[in-house]
Amino acid sequence: MNYKEGQGWHDPRIVPYQPLKLDPSCVVFHYGQTVFEGMKAYVTKDGEVQLFRPNKNFERLNRSNDRLVIPQIDEEFALEALKKLVSIDKDWVPTAEGTSLYIRPFIIATQPYLGVAPSSEYMFIIIMSPVGAYYKEGLNPVKIQVEDEYVRTVKGGTGEAKTGGNYAASLKAQEISGEKGYSQVLWLDGKEHKYVEEVGSMNMFFKVDGKVITPALNGSILQGITRDSIIQLLKHWNVPVEERRISIEEIYEAAANGKLEEAFGTGTAAVISPVGELLWKNEKVVLNEGKTGEISKRLYDTLTGIQYGTEPDPFGWTVKVE
Ligand code: PMP
Repeated sequence: MNYKEGQGWHDPRIVPYQPLKLDPSCVVFHYGQTVFEGMKAYVTKDGEVQLFRPNKNFERLNRSNDRLVIPQIDEEFALEALKKLVSIDKDWVPTAEGTSLYIRPFIIATQPYLGVAPSSEYMFIIIMSPVGAYYKEGLNPVKIQVEDEYVRTVKGGTGEAKTGGNYAASLKAQEISGEKGYSQVLWLDGKEHKYVEEVGSMNMFFKVDGKVITPALNGSILQGITRDSIIQLLKHWNVPVEERRISIEEIYEAAANGKLEEAFGTGTAAVISPVGELLWKNEKVVLNEGKTGEISKRLYDTLTGIQYGTEPDPFGWTVKVE
């Protein structure tokens, strides 16, 4: 679908996957005016195809649009278009256990213009690809390095928007921590380098002394859809859960006192990713003997159960594709 000032969004169409032809002076190439989303379609045990809370993705896309001065999209229209696209390619949704169809909606600024100003033309595109099971041999705890030199984003900058620049800013730290043998970076707040924010593509949760805690949304942490679902599930189970500011010192103190029971990240790709080890300023913490914790496992089983239709969906989170 295209956008042009004076004309609005127009010309929605489904075409075979193909390269784009763009002018080299497009705004997106030079100033990064772009937003994106990540979501999945699943085949249920009855062979039906379903999406997981897709309306939340389009809501978030519009919040990102607002920050990047990109025109709002019609969320209902986007969802209907997505359903149509998935229904055409239904055979593409893989059926093997743990597999899914990854869906990437994105918008790019396509006006050829080298001045720093919002584009007057855009393209909204949705691409999709089958993806394998994230965990081939069961949940696998990850090693995470706490980053205290680089900053991913800050409130007042592009903050919680899902925009390429925030991910570009994260690459250097990820490369350095990868060289040290850590698979993910845990970002701290950009002002004081003190409070836990999130991991590369996941929100963070900790179980401390029987209570689950997660950093409160603060304008720079991405409003994860899995995060919101996990909070709702925990409340549904009467597990105490708190959203608040969490300093990295608090986590290390809890670990030193034997009260850090579990840590896990949440996101569309990994669903739940248990954390087996944290490294902060050369100080290592091994969690749960590097094994997957009880609450991580229960959350993973329930959430994937709802997504794959093997568990009831009391929250009405799934949306069928006819
Ligand atoms: N934080 C960041 C920075 C992300 O890129 C993602 C993935 N979209 C998440 C958190 C998790 O969000 P969600 O649960 O909506 O996938």
